[in-house]
Amino acid sequence: MERTLVLVKPDALQRGLVGEIVARFERKGLKLAGMKLMNLTDATLDEHYSHLKDKPFFPGLKSFMRTTPVVALCLEGVEAVEAVRGLCGVTNARRAAPGTIRGDMGMSNQCNLVHASDSLETAQAEVKRFFRDDELLSYASASDHTVYADDERK
Ligand code: UDP
Ligand code: MG
Repeated sequence: MERTLVLVKPDALQRGLVGEIVARFERKGLKLAGMKLMNLTDATLDEHYSHLKDKPFFPGLKSFMRTTPVVALCLEGVEAVEAVRGLCGVTNARRAAPGTIRGDMGMSNQCNLVHASDSLETAQAEVKRFFRDDELLSYASASDHTVYADDERK
């Protein structure tokens, strides 16, 4: 099983959309391995968005991400990284497909409701960045055997 990181961003928190967003991941069949409300520090954001540090929107992005706490989720599933990115939709919410979180709930390129890891390698680093080992839980769920066929679970 893969694990991936999602951040429910401050715009979603302020708009009261946290529950709706978490529900979409649950309904898809992804399993919650970690979940917490947290304030992001400047240092964490510098690291998390280091690939964007030369972009003109970087200072604005950092200050947006510190407006309120965010909800960090670690989601588990077969090919979870790709599945979660698909549920989120493309970066610019105005252009995101209907049916996706960004497509259904957003109109902004920056205030686009969610962050999701973009590759397995990134996911491993990002889960570590936001969760300690003892904050990630493995447990059996009644749906484990209905969400996947036996030969799909790995
Ligand atoms: N972003 C922005 N302006 C842009 C592009 C991106 O403010 O022109 C913000 C937006 O919140 C986005 C984040 O920077 O989610 C990270 O950008 P990335 O290209 O990694 O997009 P994502 O992986 O979130 O779709
Ligand atoms: Mg990204």
